[in-house]
Amino acid sequence: MTIGTFKMKRVLAFAAALMMAAAVAANSSVSVLDTRTALAESAAIKENKKKISDAQGKLDELEKKQAELDEQIAATKDDISKEQENQDAINAQIETVQDTILTLEESIEELNNEIASLEDQIGISEIKIKNKKIEIDDGIADFKKRLRAMYVAGNSSYTDILIGADDFYDMLMKLELVKRVADHDNTMIDNLNELKDQYEADEAQLEADKAELEENKVALNEQVEYHTAQKKKLDELYAQSEAVMEQLEADKEAYESNKAQIDQEQEEFEAQIQKLLEEQEAIKKKEEEERKKAEEEARRKAEEERKRQLAAQQQNNSSSGTTSSGNSTSTNSSTGTTSNSGQTTTDNSAYGYTQKTQFTWPVPGYYHISYGIGWRWGSYHKGIDIWSPGIRGAKICAAAAGTVILVSNTCTHDYGKNYSCGCGGGYGNYCIIDHGGGYWTLYGHSQRISVVQGQHVNQGDVLGIVGSTGHSTGDHLHFEVRLNGVAQNPVNYV
Ligand SMILES: [Zn+2]
Ligand SMILES: [Zn+2]
Repeated sequence: MTIGTFKMKRVLAFAAALMMAAAVAANSSVSVLDTRTALAESAAIKENKKKISDAQGKLDELEKKQAELDEQIAATKDDISKEQENQDAINAQIETVQDTILTLEESIEELNNEIASLEDQIGISEIKIKNKKIEIDDGIADFKKRLRAMYVAGNSSYTDILIGADDFYDMLMKLELVKRVADHDNTMIDNLNELKDQYEADEAQLEADKAELEENKVALNEQVEYHTAQKKKLDELYAQSEAVMEQLEADKEAYESNKAQIDQEQEEFEAQIQKLLEEQEAIKKKEEEERKKAEEEARRKAEEERKRQLAAQQQNNSSSGTTSSGNSTSTNSSTGTTSNSGQTTTDNSAYGYTQKTQFTWPVPGYYHISYGIGWRWGSYHKGIDIWSPGIRGAKICAAAAGTVILVSNTCTHDYGKNYSCGCGGGYGNYCIIDHGGGYWTLYGHSQRISVVQGQHVNQGDVLGIVGSTGHSTGDHLHFEVRLNGVAQNPVNYV
């Protein structure tokens, strides 16, 4: 009778345990299913990935456009509209990068949520496993206790059960009951162990999923870092472009407010260049005539001498004499060379500069061209403007040996110009050197020119120092190369 109720209790308990286990198992399979959904990338992250790849494509395109623009800007440095395009292009890149960062941050947020949810699931799983272990341990302890009761300590009770049997049939029944109880307990423990294994497998899966998400998060964070650095660079470029733009606008404004006067002065300057050209031409012509006259004179003298000798020979047939013909030498009027050079600072090679032609760079140590040759604000800029920070007072050096044919030192407008003194036709204090072969070089906006007209200079000799005289909004050297009076692109020569 007691065994009957005991068995009933066990069966009930077992059924309850099974039901509970089934429920837990069902529950656990749901949790694994959740993880699977979480792992099968969320739609939001997928969408973000597409956004990022689209942005990358757009960025590549923008970068290509930017490279083309950079080339154009380098070619026409003085163009405000080009600078505006440059700025717009940089801005577009910044926006794209910003979008990318935003999308990445969304993805990271999404991942963080998923990781948090997985962590919750892992927490629940751990509790379940812990409970299951307790249940199993309890079951095993219980089973052992009863086994001991039935078979070991209770060898007598086992015997008692058998002895207590009413008959052989009853004894068999009781034996069967004992066996069943043992079987049930075994099955229950097996089931519990299976459940525990499943939980542990689930937990391992959850941990693996979590690790994968963490990895994704690290990768995304790296991307954010990369794009943030990219944005920082672009921001710097944009700031630079803004500074360039500001300078261009200021230059343009200054230029436009004085345009009529500048144009007039420029015209006068060109007339002066023309006059100089004619003078040089006249000097050359005169030199040529003098040379021809000297040659003619020499020939005439030689002829006279020959005739004289012939006459003497005829007159005095017996006597003979040798007289050398006179050699006329042209007088060379080269002036003494005064040179301020010889210092390392006037040597371009000390700065790693290599000469392209017979001309060398006119401001050693300062190699940045702020404006190139070409159209600017309705006028043609005939040379290059050389500017780098700290250029004020730098030595202006002769690009090649030659003769100083023009010096203008009359402009006092080094800074704060609100009227013109003529300003050397806009060039301020400047000089022109004739290198022969039709080549001249011009050096403008100097604080003061230190050579004098007619002076011969060697390559690298100091001509003056950099300033901002004439029509100039800042310290720089305006450098021109002219061939027969026509402005050439200095970039092809120095
Ligand atoms: Zn002036
Ligand atoms: Zn210039």
